[in-house]
Amino acid sequence: MLYCQINDFKDKDNGMIEISVVIPVFNEEENLPVLIPQLYGVLEKLKKPFEIIFVDDGSRDESRNIIKEASLHYPQIHMIGFKENCGETAATDAGLREAKGGIIITMDADLQNDPNDIPIMLEYLKEYDMVTGWRQTREDSWIKRITSKIANKIRNWLSNESIRDSGCTFRVFRRECLKNIKLFKGMHRFMPTLFRMEGFRVIEIPITHHPRRFGVSKYTTLNRMWSSFIDLLAVRWMKKRYINFNIDERI
Ligand code: UDP
Ligand code: MG
Repeated sequence: MLYCQINDFKDKDNGMIEISVVIPVFNEEENLPVLIPQLYGVLEKLKKPFEIIFVDDGSRDESRNIIKEASLHYPQIHMIGFKENCGETAATDAGLREAKGGIIITMDADLQNDPNDIPIMLEYLKEYDMVTGWRQTREDSWIKRITSKIANKIRNWLSNESIRDSGCTFRVFRRECLKNIKLFKGMHRFMPTLFRMEGFRVIEIPITHHPRRFGVSKYTTLNRMWSSFIDLLAVRWMKKRYINFNIDERI
């Protein structure tokens, strides 16, 4: 059993949760103390009941203690802690399974995503089922920017897609989008495509992107390129083999 589940936290909040923010965390001890008040400030202004679910993916630093400490001050903060590092998709999946809101927001814990973009993203949700971020001016190393551009081009070509930045995990979407989705390792990168396959309306909008000030990226260029290429082949296959039928008659 890889997941260390906290089953009782659902009782922590009374009232209907409208917005759930899911944040995977792996060794982000310097970022969390900045992110938490920033995010909280933005969410509070929306005047809608919300929860923030941090999934500590087996951090070896103080991340978990910081989240626990914050949950004492902010009752909307919950945490799921993995026994060991299971990867970003697993952490995202665990958080999504616990989320109670009709609207779900996913974002990184490393301050590269800016919570101030959330209100604009929510506006788009009036006409779309998913709003996914596009790091138009990406604040990462040149090698990361170039490889990501090439990877996105190949991804779109091979899977007949039009998403410019599928690796951006800053997203807002309706809970229904998850209904028929089973995530596998690496598939967090393809969520917009998976949702589109299910018939949901997805829009990609430019978002703010900050450089990583503290901590390090958890991926190297090579491991990300290779594993997401293999995942791309799976998504291409799924798209090609998607079952679609129109019932003409039923007696
Ligand atoms: N992350 C995680 N488990 C992992 C790798 C990453 O929970 O095994 C989290 C990480 O803490 C961050 C988010 O996933 O909140 C994105 O990771 P990172 O910033 O390293 O990715 P990049 O921005 O370099 O693509
Ligand atoms: Mg990052």
